[in-house]
Amino acid sequence: MNEVDALIQALSEKRKLVAMLAPSFPIVFSYPEIITRLRKLGFSYVIEVSLGARKTNAELADLLKNNPNNRYITSPCPTVVRMVRQQMPKSAKYFTYGVDSPMIATAKIAKENYPDCQPVFIGPCIVKKLEATEDNPDLNILVLTYTEIVQVFNHFNIQEETGIQDQFDLGGEGLTRIYPVDGGLSHSSGLMESFQPGEIQTVSGWKNCVEAIKNFDLNPKIRLLDILFCEGGCIGGPGIQSPLSTQERKKKILDYAGQT
Ligand code: SF4
Repeated sequence: MNEVDALIQALSEKRKLVAMLAPSFPIVFSYPEIITRLRKLGFSYVIEVSLGARKTNAELADLLKNNPNNRYITSPCPTVVRMVRQQMPKSAKYFTYGVDSPMIATAKIAKENYPDCQPVFIGPCIVKKLEATEDNPDLNILVLTYTEIVQVFNHFNIQEETGIQDQFDLGGEGLTRIYPVDGGLSHSSGLMESFQPGEIQTVSGWKNCVEAIKNFDLNPKIRLLDILFCEGGCIGGPGIQSPLSTQERKKKILDYAGQT
């Protein structure tokens, strides 16, 4: 059964579910209308993944503080994780494997707060499905792309209503809402300011990722490499259907982040 059918079945059976909305959602959906629309669909709670990104940042900061002489490649992106693990194993020693991605950190927050609910991640990424099922099966996360959640809205004929006032049950805050943009991790965690110029590199787009990982091995001046596989970051993810350019998508994210 695919994830769309699995969610339709869970909603039809009135199972308790918590929606975890990835921080790229403003490219596709209106805020706060999307929260109400997910509640009308049947979600018991709606929370922001940018909340978990704060935990990701804190874990990364701890790792760097406790190992100040090490050099790291870091990424919340399961495609980069797989690329390094399978195709560039020599570089795996640099990877921050112990740090939870925002999706995983948010699922753990959801389990703590709503232990009777299954977490459902809604975002721009198809590879997150593998991160959920292969790397973290114990959390029982169901992963749908934005395109797929629209199919579920259509199945139950749940339309968007305008003029709605609503808020997340657990929300993030401005800074980590920039996570889906190239360099979002480094900027939102304050790491940009912690390193000297040239010691930190942020990269997105698959060709750039491969080059940057190879170069990292050869250039010890770079202390931290922050990478996302898709062009421009998760704002270019395959689960987003939008006519907007990369710059227009980025503006949507920054505008939303600036609301708080
Ligand atoms: S950069 Fe692309 S592949 Fe990586 S997590 Fe974001 S959407 Fe998924």
